[in-house]
Amino acid sequence: MVELLFLLLPIAAISGWLSARKYYQKKLKPNNNKVGPAYFEGLNYLLNEQPDKAIDVFIRLLEVNSETVETHLALANLFRRRGETDRAIRIHQNLIARPTLKPLQRIEALTELGLDYMNAGVLDRAESIFLELQQQTPPPKQATKQLLRIYQQQHNWPQAIEMAKLLNRGSDQKVDRLIAQFYCELAESQIDAAPSLAQGHLKNAASYDPTCIRAMLLSADIAISKHQYGTAITELNNVANKNPAFIREALPKLHHCYQQLGKLADLKQWLRLFLNNHEHASVKLLLAEVIKQLEGAQAANEYLYAELNKQSSLPVLNKLLEFEQDPKQNLLPILSDITNTLLSRKPIYSCQNCGFTGKTMHWHCPSCSEWQTIQPTESNQTIKSGVH
Ligand SMILES: [Zn+2]
Repeated sequence: MVELLFLLLPIAAISGWLSARKYYQKKLKPNNNKVGPAYFEGLNYLLNEQPDKAIDVFIRLLEVNSETVETHLALANLFRRRGETDRAIRIHQNLIARPTLKPLQRIEALTELGLDYMNAGVLDRAESIFLELQQQTPPPKQATKQLLRIYQQQHNWPQAIEMAKLLNRGSDQKVDRLIAQFYCELAESQIDAAPSLAQGHLKNAASYDPTCIRAMLLSADIAISKHQYGTAITELNNVANKNPAFIREALPKLHHCYQQLGKLADLKQWLRLFLNNHEHASVKLLLAEVIKQLEGAQAANEYLYAELNKQSSLPVLNKLLEFEQDPKQNLLPILSDITNTLLSRKPIYSCQNCGFTGKTMHWHCPSCSEWQTIQPTESNQTIKSGVH
């Protein structure tokens, strides 16, 4: 019974095809009666996986039938998506070479050819195509976008900035942040040779993105190189205020500035104030260093012990072990507390396929949905084999 149904399938397909053909013949008769044997010859080659022959047939067809431009574009896109970029390039080049192509179709084909070259990594050809497209009024957004990609890859920051500004007609915050990063790249490359030029770039960066942490850190670097430690501290304070998560990047610079000014007591005060509002191990470590410099190792150790008794922390313990010359008995309960915390955090099972980790065994990974990819982790297996 089922087999009989199968036999009926092709008949249904053919009758559907015939009625569709009748419909299209009626509808398109006056101008499209050339979609004939050659077109089906091309399709046939395509279905028999002889794409090169198919392309030749379609290109030949194109000479007589401009209605198939869309089909050619679709076919070329298909090839590009399958990674067969050279075939896509051939089709697009042939389309562009046609003198009868309508202006909008030519722009579309040219854009696609540019994307082919991007895919193939031939950036100079892609660049010249997108530059040509940009001469259009209005310039297609895609051309500007692709040029932005190219100049980023080439580290051509002035051009990248130009393109981003062209894209940014509606003042998009995401593009603004990008422009700020490009100005930071420019500043970074000139910071040693031309610090005042670099400073100008950083001003531009800050005007596009007032929260740009990188610009603040680079400004601090320039100030430090000019021995303007007060200015540098102001910039680093900005980092702490605008985005405390980045404080670790600012700490060594802060330490250096306060040391040069001979004002470590002020830094100690500053760090304590920061810790009142934020929990950061790296700030505690610097505070311990400063206490050691100001009051000696004993005072620094007492501070670290007090912190560890409040909250177990691996970096703080590590610092204590570094400072403490003669570890006493009272370090042991702290150590066991920390190892227990670390062990309880360790996942016991992990997926070999996607890296998902958890404390219970799943045969069906909740993350990637593969079966039997989750295994007990290495350390657990070692304990097991030790038991045997
Ligand atoms: Zn998984």
